[in-house]
Amino acid sequence: MSATDPVVIVGAGPAGVSAARALVEAGHKPILIDEGMFPGGQIFRRAPAPLARSGKDTYGFEATRAHALGEHFAAILPSITYYPETLIWGIEPGTIHLARKDGALRQPWTRLIVAPGAMDRIVPVKGWTGPGVFTLGGAQIALKAQASLIGGEVVFVGSGPLLYLVAYQYARAGARVVAVLEHADPFRHVSSMAGLVAGGRILAKGLYYMAWLRAHGIVVETRAEPTEILRNRDGRVSGVRFLKGTRETTLTCDAVGIGYGLKSETQLADLLGVDFRFDRQHRQWLPKTDADGRSSVRGVYFAGDGLAIRGSEVAEMTGELAARALLADEASAHAPRVSGLRQRVARMDAFRRALDGVFPFPSRMASMSPDDTVICRCEGLTAGSLREAVTTSGECDINRIKAFTRLGMGRCQGRVCAPMAAELIAAQAAVDIAAVGRIRGQAPVKPVPLTSLARRTHDQL
Ligand SMILES: Cc1cc2nc3c(=O)[nH]c(=O)nc-3n(C[C@H](O)[C@H](O)[C@H](O)COP(=O)(O)OP(=O)(O)OC[C@H]3O[C@@H](n4cnc5c(N)ncnc54)[C@H](O)[C@@H]3O)c2cc1C
Repeated sequence: MSATDPVVIVGAGPAGVSAARALVEAGHKPILIDEGMFPGGQIFRRAPAPLARSGKDTYGFEATRAHALGEHFAAILPSITYYPETLIWGIEPGTIHLARKDGALRQPWTRLIVAPGAMDRIVPVKGWTGPGVFTLGGAQIALKAQASLIGGEVVFVGSGPLLYLVAYQYARAGARVVAVLEHADPFRHVSSMAGLVAGGRILAKGLYYMAWLRAHGIVVETRAEPTEILRNRDGRVSGVRFLKGTRETTLTCDAVGIGYGLKSETQLADLLGVDFRFDRQHRQWLPKTDADGRSSVRGVYFAGDGLAIRGSEVAEMTGELAARALLADEASAHAPRVSGLRQRVARMDAFRRALDGVFPFPSRMASMSPDDTVICRCEGLTAGSLREAVTTSGECDINRIKAFTRLGMGRCQGRVCAPMAAELIAAQAAVDIAAVGRIRGQAPVKPVPLTSLARRTHDQL
């Protein structure tokens, strides 16, 4: 490992940009790689110029932070090597495999800060695989990156803070939000109040979105469980059926946004061979690191939502912490003290734990999906076929079930279906969810255009 090789940062979201800033301040010239067109990650995603809306319209309360990230990025741009629209589809010791419009590339690495963020977590419901159904994040991407709505009359279904935020953003952008169907019962969790208060500004924003929706006559149902997304004869969405207790209700709409919180993107961590730990609250296997993001593999650090879902402010802090950990490990004269940063992250951890308690992942609902619900849409696998595979094989390891059924072998490589499948397998085999394990990461971690790979492979960016 040479201290003169540039540090490579995966992801130009709040965590990656913050890590790059800290490295630049210490005199480094890192390489920053992101598959997106612009820096900013998920929260500060933006549209190309002709579609751009005002910062206030796009980011609401976060407009100032979005602007600040843009300024910080512009300030460090001359001191970094930035590769947008560059997908990392594989990593092995010493080499990163990349795909761009102009071909495939290999980038050597000796030190890596991995900040690939998160993605939506869904619980499939009958009819979720047809057109007109988007994840909450997908619905937001349509709005932020394309200035478009997923429909004119939308029902938002799921659980967690993003549900209210996206419903609010859609209503402000001119959609008729028919209803917000929340699985949890957030107002029953008074005991979590002390932890929630640690969230300060973030809690206040969440409460504002909820109050705004109600004040504008938008129905917010709690303890609501969707049972089916209904369609017209032409296949378009016509409504949502849901249960609240024993009462079944049907709502009319032309699009559905669905999401039950977020899950960390961990495939690259898997390919890097770092140790993982099972996080009971997120019900997910996550990279195991120390408080500053050092992994079990020398030279590999993690930050942001790719390490654990804690929001964009913590992502910034952990990006800086990871960079400082790297500097400290190189005994850099610039390695500054980090105790204040660690304390701020710990404070926000208390908030996130309380929030996860208020909006727990609906594991019971996930494990009770009717037999004919599609779980793995790439391979067309239903809940019933997975249950049958568990029963007939007597296996509960998700990789064994994958071998029997092709679960997670399609385009998404299990990124969408694996959390749901794990719940089903655990329930069917009557084992703890941790015993199911995680689908082993395989390259390519995301779909790669064959035209990129067919072009000449260059050896370095
Ligand atoms: C879809 C979505 C929408 C969200 N919207 C909001 C919101 O409106 N408000 C809010 O407060 N929070 C939102 N969140 C949560 C918030 O985005 C995160 O908490 C925060 O952005 C985390 O920052 P990060 O830098 O860790 O990750 P991100 O912001 O997710 O950045 C990660 C970056 O890594 C890049 N990347 C990932 N994998 C690869 C790869 N293989 N190759 C190349 N590049 C890669 C991505 O393109 C992305 O730019 C959203 C999350 C998601 C998933």
